[in-house]
Amino acid sequence: MIRIEFHLHTYHSPDSLLTMEEIVQTCRRRQINAVVVADHNTIQGALELQNFARERLQVVVAEEVLTSEGEIMGLFLKEPIPPGLTPRETVDRIREQGGLVLIPHPTDRLRRSRLNGRALQEVLPLADMVEIYNSRTIFEIDNHKALALACEHDLAKTAGSDAHLQCEIGRSYGEMEAFTDAAGFLQNLKAVKLYPKKSSLLVHFSAKPLRFFRKRFIK
Ligand SMILES: [Zn+2]
Repeated sequence: MIRIEFHLHTYHSPDSLLTMEEIVQTCRRRQINAVVVADHNTIQGALELQNFARERLQVVVAEEVLTSEGEIMGLFLKEPIPPGLTPRETVDRIREQGGLVLIPHPTDRLRRSRLNGRALQEVLPLADMVEIYNSRTIFEIDNHKALALACEHDLAKTAGSDAHLQCEIGRSYGEMEAFTDAAGFLQNLKAVKLYPKKSSLLVHFSAKPLRFFRKRFIK
């Protein structure tokens, strides 16, 4: 089994300061073996971390792409995907590279970058995964709605910290069987055990809804 952080930013994202050293150190301390690095509109940080960490940390090269209608994440990318394309074009570009399509924070009402309603309905049938929990999402009910979407469309589920700061790394994570490629990742994700937790930076954490959430929804 490995412990994986599904949503992490490096200093290559304009809103993150995280260095490669900080990521490797923090993951070691928190016993995280793998990270999905999804910087905004670039894969440079993911490639740099992969090169820096080597065998110390498994890095899934990803990108949180700002499409014309909001954000879509591509995982297992080889080439960067330019921002500003339509959601459909973006999905096609991810697929052409053999990548996986994840919809981050699809129902976060405060997130202006989320995929807008019509585009979300268009992309859901084309996606592999939904981020059913984002630690930075303020309203718990918005995460519940994301979970409902994943269930409705029978999509795999991730829970991500959306870490931009060192203290956020591994706030939410999953435990799953080890993988070596996109197909193995998606296969093993079916049996993932998710440990979602809200970021203490932004909200006053209430254990009650989370306990309810864990008991009811997380395998
Ligand atoms: Zn993000």
